[in-house]
Order: sequence, then structure tokens, then C-alpha cells
Amino acid sequence: VNLLLVDVVLRDRGPTRVRLADGRVSAVGADLVPDPAEEVIDGRGGLLLPGLADHHLHLAATAAHATSADLEGRDLIAALREATPDGSGWVRAVGYDERRHGDLSRTVLDQAVPGRPVRVQHRSGALWVLNTAGLAAIGAYSATVGGIERDPDGVPTGRLWRCDDWLRTALPERDAPSLRALGATLAGYGLTHLTEASPDPGPAQAAAAAVRAGDLPQHLLLLAEDLTEQSADHPRIAIGPVKIVTTDHALPGFEELCDRICRAHGHGRPVAVHCVTRAALALTLSALAEAGVREGDRIEHAAVAGPPEVSAVAALGVRVVTQPSLVERRGDDYLARVDPPDRRDLWPYASLVAAGVRVAPSSDAPYGDPDPWRTIRAAVGRRTTSGRRLGPGEAVSAEQVLDGYLSAPSDPGGAPRRVAPGATADLVLLEGSLADVLAEPDAGRVRATLVEGALIGGGA
Ligand SMILES: [Zn+2]
Repeated sequence: VNLLLVDVVLRDRGPTRVRLADGRVSAVGADLVPDPAEEVIDGRGGLLLPGLADHHLHLAATAAHATSADLEGRDLIAALREATPDGSGWVRAVGYDERRHGDLSRTVLDQAVPGRPVRVQHRSGALWVLNTAGLAAIGAYSATVGGIERDPDGVPTGRLWRCDDWLRTALPERDAPSLRALGATLAGYGLTHLTEASPDPGPAQAAAAAVRAGDLPQHLLLLAEDLTEQSADHPRIAIGPVKIVTTDHALPGFEELCDRICRAHGHGRPVAVHCVTRAALALTLSALAEAGVREGDRIEHAAVAGPPEVSAVAALGVRVVTQPSLVERRGDDYLARVDPPDRRDLWPYASLVAAGVRVAPSSDAPYGDPDPWRTIRAAVGRRTTSGRRLGPGEAVSAEQVLDGYLSAPSDPGGAPRRVAPGATADLVLLEGSLADVLAEPDAGRVRATLVEGALIGGGA
């Protein structure tokens, strides 16, 4: 069914009408007359933008997060004892922080929740800790997987480092959460494009399967390394850069990192390198300088970067995909714990933009907040949960962040997409003018979200 949006305001032109046909914007003009077969949506003078793109998130983990006990700011034992087990009898918790909750192992969890399988995720996402029942249930005692930490006698300690892909195969099938509810929530925020940033093929395939099944109505870009052509065998799925994780407890060697970058480039794909420490960023920048930069190469997070690193990023011409909502969520922790020399260099945004770097915002959900409007507020205010400011010099305008959300997934931080004839009809209709939206960015303004001309969220 074709649509005519009447009384809408575009960024570059006053009240007008926009016709959608065959999944595209077919015409824009105040004089367009409704066709009898056409459905009409009254924009009531609201702003019509291209749909937003979240340039980095983890869909399966975000969906699972919704059904987990959240340990953030809570007592671990009490939270675990109160948690409701899932359909397979597992207790699942997220947000473990060793500085708040202490060291965690199989035996500590056994005392907290005896008898039923428990798994607790570190807030970085890099570590799971399981109790004895949990380890037994997934066969960890006899498994030969690399990330299973063992004591000197060879007995698993309960700590599993970056084992997500194996865990997914070892856990009961019905543990895999549907992405349908999450897809609807994200549509309600005006998001029409999602970049699934997991390096492992499991989450990428789960997200692709959700698009094919109709559970996830958005466009999807996949960053996992080992993807077959079939993974992207759908008009709304594309394969993007190769995600490379430089784990902070074991940085890869320089040669190894260069090789991985060259291999990705050799396959015609840019790289997206995870860098959350100054050391990881320095290593990555020298590896990129050695291997050569390919258009589309990007740094994920750049969580610690001062003037020398910012200049180096700019000189190489690589992009940065940042997560302003973590300034709010974790800012108080950073102020308490991060070494003073690193504190002033946390989560740069304005200095990157000033240096000419293409910067794109994202959520990194479930670690950051999936609501893009909240991310815009966080990037503008740079306020922590307790109201203190973190790196106020790195604050940017709401329009700067919005532009980043409007850049194409294949061009993060590039020119914002526009509503113009010929463009794909991926759109968000908002309540209020551009000035209103920028002054008070809020998900409550989203009235309708469309992908390829079809309504996926909001009732208009
Ligand atoms: Zn991530």
C-alpha cells in the first residue's frame, strides 16, 4: 500500500507532502494530491527524518538482558537469591563488577545459589562466571574450549573468558531469546538500521534469522568475521567491516593484529577494532598505519583518547563509533576509579569532531542505553547518574549526534541521509519541529517509524 504523508516538515523545507511508493520516497511537494488508493498519514506539522541507525549494538545480548537479574548497584547474593529462573531452570544475572561484588568463582556462587545452575556476566561482557551445577550442565569439566579458566589441578574455576559462541551451543535451546520484542522497542525509538557488532558468528546469525523470520523489521549490518554469503541472503541484511576485539587482559601481538587487518582488507572488508584502553588504541593505530587503512575502517569505543591519539586517528582517516550513554551510566565509576591522567581523556567526542574525524554515536546495548534520544542527551550534557560532569569539553550539540544517527550504516559519521525522491522510505515521524527535537530530544516524540515504506512502530 502506498502512503502519502501530509503536513510534515523536512530538515531542509517547510510544511510539505511526501509520497512513498514501492518502498521508496517517490515524490516530495506541497501540491501532491492524495490518490484514492493511497493511505494518508497526517504529520500535524511534525518533523520527518530518515530513520535512525544504531551503529553498534548486540541484539541477542540485549534481548537476554531483559530477562536477567541486573546486579548493577545491588548486593550480589541477595539479587541472585531473588532472581526468577528461566524456562530451563537457570538463574542468569548481568552487571557483575569485581570492585563492587568481590572476586567471583564457582564456589562463591555455589554458596549463594546451591543446586540450580547459575551464570553471571561481567559488566564488560567478556566474562561469565558459573557455579558447579552450571558448569556440569554445559559439560565444562570435560570440554577443551580455550576460555575455560582452570586451577592448577585442571578443575574449572567457574570463570569463562570470551566463550559466548561455545556457551550458546552448550546452553539449552530455549534459552535463545526471541528478538521480536526488542525489534519493536527499537522501532519505537525511530531506529530503522541496526549494526550487530558481535565478532562471533552466533549472534550475527541469530539476528539475521530474526530478520528473515520477520521478528526484526529493521535493516541489519553484520560485523562478524566468519560469515557466509547466505548470512546476508536477504534484501535488508548486509555484511560490513570485520569486528576485531583487542581484549584488554591479553592484547594481541602487533604482527597478529596487522595480519588480521590485512586478511579482512584482502576479503574486501574494512575493520572495526574494539579499543577501550589507551594501550589498545595505540596498538591498533600503529597496526593500521602498518597494514594500511581501507575506506570504512573504524575504531569502536575509543574510550580513552587524548590529544595525541585524537590526532593520530584523524591523520589515519579512520572513523570512531562512540557510546555517549556510558558517560552517564558509568561516569561516577570512572570518576572514582580511573587513573587521573586517563580521566580527562574519557569518551572523547567534540575533540574528535574538531580534528575532522567522522564520529558516529551508538548504544553498545546492553552495556549502554539502547534509546538513541537518551544517548543524544548524554552526549550534550556529559552528566553522570549523580549529576557530575565528565569531560564537559567533549560535549557536542544535539544536532551533531543526530547527524551521526542519520549517517548510513555503511558510512558511520558520514553525511546524514536525507528525505528526498529516490531515497529508501526508511523514516521517522516526530512530534514537534527540528528546534523542539534538538532542544528536548526524547523517544516520546516518535510518532511513526517506517522501513521501506511499511509502518514498523508507532501509530502515527
Ligand atoms: Zn560492543
